[in-house]
Amino acid sequence: MSEGTWTPDSWRSRPAAQDVEYPDREHLSRVLSKIRNLPPLVTPSEIERLRHQLGQVQRNEAFLLHAGDCAESFDACTHENISNKIGLILSFSLILIWGARLPIVRIGRIAGQYAKPRSSATEKIGDREVTSFRGDNVNGLDPNDRTPDPERLLSAYFHSTTTLNHIRGLLTSGFASLNHPRDWSLSHVRSPALREEFERITEGLSDALGFTRTIGYGKDSSYEQGGRRGALDEVDFYTSHEGLMLDYEEALTRTFPIPASTIPTVKLFPRPKPTAFYNTSAHFLWIGDRTRQLDGAHVEYFRGIRNPIGIKVGPSMKDEELIRLLDIVNVDKESGRVTLITRYGAGKIDNHLAGHIRAVQASGHPVVWICDPMHGNTLTSSSGLKTRNFGTIISELTSCMRIHSECDSRLNGVSLEFTGELNEEGFSVTECLGGSMELSEEQLGLRYQSFCDPRLNFEQSLDVAFLVSNYFKN
Ligand code: PEP
Ligand code: MN
Repeated sequence: MSEGTWTPDSWRSRPAAQDVEYPDREHLSRVLSKIRNLPPLVTPSEIERLRHQLGQVQRNEAFLLHAGDCAESFDACTHENISNKIGLILSFSLILIWGARLPIVRIGRIAGQYAKPRSSATEKIGDREVTSFRGDNVNGLDPNDRTPDPERLLSAYFHSTTTLNHIRGLLTSGFASLNHPRDWSLSHVRSPALREEFERITEGLSDALGFTRTIGYGKDSSYEQGGRRGALDEVDFYTSHEGLMLDYEEALTRTFPIPASTIPTVKLFPRPKPTAFYNTSAHFLWIGDRTRQLDGAHVEYFRGIRNPIGIKVGPSMKDEELIRLLDIVNVDKESGRVTLITRYGAGKIDNHLAGHIRAVQASGHPVVWICDPMHGNTLTSSSGLKTRNFGTIISELTSCMRIHSECDSRLNGVSLEFTGELNEEGFSVTECLGGSMELSEEQLGLRYQSFCDPRLNFEQSLDVAFLVSNYFKN
């Protein structure tokens, strides 16, 4: 079981769940050789910084926000979509920082979240049975374009690069500045109560920033005046995706020296420099609920990379299986290495979470616990659209917080599918039911834009942010 020498391709000797069958393997090899020579998207020092920050999250010194689309699409790679998504993540984290008075670690499901696991290899479209859509990096949404095409992996690499480049640009040119939270645009939020609550926070923040400037801090933080960047202008932001397409992940796995500044012991033993395998396609990768078999290819691949990783934990996970999995992927029980993303469903969480928490506590594994209240709560509306009920999402989230307290544990973060995407008239999407905008079943079809799972829209996401923030205030 997952023992022996690890190499970036040792996963190839294991069965890979959700495998994609390429009709032309030689074409795939050519594309992978090309990707193997392209530069990394993220750096070892960024990955180490995230590991360190997740260690802080695990010790309850910070809170983790993991959020973004279920699946990105190549067509949605636009300035508007990227900046709306980053703006929503920043607004959400501002509400949490203000309420919980804890630093927030932000990881987007962005710049590479293209591949999707599917419950069935084929799907019915009209009266045709076609290969299921597996995400833009595999095949097309168009039912006539369902043959897996390796060129899409290359396109995924370049769309990820473009997205990441734009995020880096936004974050280093003042977009994230806490001095201008109003730039993150609340203009389309129609609920007066929600707007008021957010404006109360930004006003409080403006006062606090004004005060710090008066007493001499943050003087240099203004871009407009050509000042150097201050701590309030720039935020850390990390990227993530499900590590599903192992051919692609392997091609971007590179060996590098572990940055000395992040490992205190490395300084003491400078020669030979320790190296590690970093997956350079994203800072954080997770194993999905459908690909976490103990002797499967995905677990084998994940055990050898140095990146912090997530593991989706659903209702079919046995207590002892969870511990065996942790033993495989975190042999040295290192803090910040593993984040457990629980996703049972509001009706099932009571039967599973407490057992999982107690088993992990008994094992001595340090883990970050975050709640994904989305994936166990998907349903089909009467019109046939896949949706989620806001009330059910909140129910799983509040049960999760309660069960952690009952087990003498603490919820360290949330994992959400949300979007700040607006249509041409400036209206947000209508994919999940309820929330302060009271979205009804009849309204679902108005602006249903997801081609994968339904996402919380801007208003519904802020509703969740206030709920979590209030919980930590009390
Ligand atoms: C997802 O996060 O989009 C997903 C498919 O989740 P899970 O593996 O938990 O079903
Ligand atoms: Mn999803």
